[in-house]
Amino acid sequence: MKIVIVGAGQAAASLAARLRAKGHDGPVTLIGAEPVAPYQRPPLSKAYLLGQMGLDRLVLRSPEWWVDQGITLRLDETAQAIDPAARMVRTDRAQVAYDVLVMTTGAHARRLPAAMGGDLPGVQVIRNLADVNALVPQMQPGRRLIVIGGGYIGLEAAAVARKLDLTVTLIEAAPRILGRVAAAETADMIRELHLAHGVEIMEGTGISHITGTDRATGVVLNDGRELPADLIVTGIGVLPETGLAQTAGLVLDNGIATDDLGRTSDPAIWAAGDCASFPWQGGRLRLESVGNAIDMAEAVADNILGADRPYQPKPWFWSDQFDAKLQIAGLGAGHDRIVTRAGDGQHGGSVWYYRQGRLIAVDALNDARAYMIGKRLIEAGRSPEADAIAATTDLKALLA
Ligand code: NAP
Repeated sequence: MKIVIVGAGQAAASLAARLRAKGHDGPVTLIGAEPVAPYQRPPLSKAYLLGQMGLDRLVLRSPEWWVDQGITLRLDETAQAIDPAARMVRTDRAQVAYDVLVMTTGAHARRLPAAMGGDLPGVQVIRNLADVNALVPQMQPGRRLIVIGGGYIGLEAAAVARKLDLTVTLIEAAPRILGRVAAAETADMIRELHLAHGVEIMEGTGISHITGTDRATGVVLNDGRELPADLIVTGIGVLPETGLAQTAGLVLDNGIATDDLGRTSDPAIWAAGDCASFPWQGGRLRLESVGNAIDMAEAVADNILGADRPYQPKPWFWSDQFDAKLQIAGLGAGHDRIVTRAGDGQHGGSVWYYRQGRLIAVDALNDARAYMIGKRLIEAGRSPEADAIAATTDLKALLA
């Protein structure tokens, strides 16, 4: 059975490793447009951007590992179309035949339109190694950075830039930072952390356009104010990479739609990671996280080999900003009650999300114990009384 994986990121690497670990000894080929072997993406906006981590630690496996495992890496090669009838992937260099194809094409950064100056030199996104390699030399002390977007990318970039002694203004169009992914209580803790480190945060502030002709020189806000900048980073979300799936005629629904095993509308084609949406709680879910890339890829590998194991996501996320660690278990969307607990340190505490009396998520800032206990409760489907979470002096007792 010839297995071809399109996209060579975390999901692809996890899938290939799992196929071998589970005894598949047939050909496995990864096709990736980037010139580097699969690498970790989370450090790109953290340690790697800060210059504290090299490519040797970023790559997921050594060059020897791929050779030892007999896995073929077709790097710097772009898949352009899929012919499902012929079971063939056409790349910019060759035709690659498959028996089973897996789409792990990930997502790409949204950009501000060119009409708003989004394509000017000096406007950077943070998604790929090449993006960050271009950004690092521009992060010089004393320069003025404007970050557009108050999600994790924008906040992590702002934190790194302050550590490198840039002047940083972060602009969020929505009423508050982290609006898509976290409750106001969590956003409050993160805002306080950034303000304490000298980041200027402007919320509910839309951008008219980026100024500059040969290079970005600043932004004009919707209210007409003009802010100068030496450098602009946009972190305004990602879009699932579905263009190739479209050439195969696969059903799309907020990404490449799969069944609960990870199979797409073509029985010979599977999908995993940021590009894939799967059935969940009566609807569909697409997760943008490294945890999902690993877990879904492993489930898909098992199912390609016949396990028939529906994918059950156990969402978790983390973010490092300054010296604080935010850890998140579960998904807070649709919550109707929030309970907060103070932490031990200056910037810390936890936020517990309930929906109809059920504990669905926990955000913990510098509070590993709250994260660990919350995660175990959520995964076990257990929901302590919300009042007990707020009142108890011994969180661990809730696990008993
Ligand atoms: P994100 O979480 O979607 O956040 C983007 C933010 O930018 C949103 O708050 C969005 O507000 C705002 N925005 C959108 N258009 C804007 C505009 N024109 N002007 C100002 N603000 C605007 O995405 P992200 O931070 O770019 O991250 C990309 C992906 O990487 C996400 O999947 C993220 O979870 C992942 N990531 C994860 C981590 C982590 O887990 N530690 C770290 C980095 C990145 P609206 O919601 O109102 O549009």
